[in-house]
Amino acid sequence: MPNMNIERDWIENWRKSLVRLLGPYARVIPEQQIIALKNKVQEWIQDATMVHVRCKECGWKGGGKSLLTAANPFSINDTITGCPQCSSINSTIQVCDVHNCWEDVCAGWPSEEGYRQTCSKHRLMRTALKQL
Ligand SMILES: [Zn+2]
Ligand SMILES: [Zn+2]
Repeated sequence: MPNMNIERDWIENWRKSLVRLLGPYARVIPEQQIIALKNKVQEWIQDATMVHVRCKECGWKGGGKSLLTAANPFSINDTITGCPQCSSINSTIQVCDVHNCWEDVCAGWPSEEGYRQTCSKHRLMRTALKQL
């Protein structure tokens, strides 16, 4: 049954990545859950298309398109951004591309669907998926 073996291989690869990511308890995660996780990761890779930001001053979080923008009065070709909630200037940082994840960006990587920037957790998930 060659197909079964291929399945075993990727499940074991994922398990190794998960142990690195989550710690030793990942050794006993049921295979069904690993398969479900893989489907989930494939889903968010397709989903991660929008720039998300978080305000360091007031904690507001949302899409990058919601930011207020204006020409910088001190530098002609420059734009400044404002938080739509507290109006702080240049107070927002980019967060993980993945839907509903608000962790700081740690790495960028190219994907079939364009350049992505994600937190360390989602980068590791991506790495795990790449190894299939
Ligand atoms: Zn704010
Ligand atoms: Zn993330």
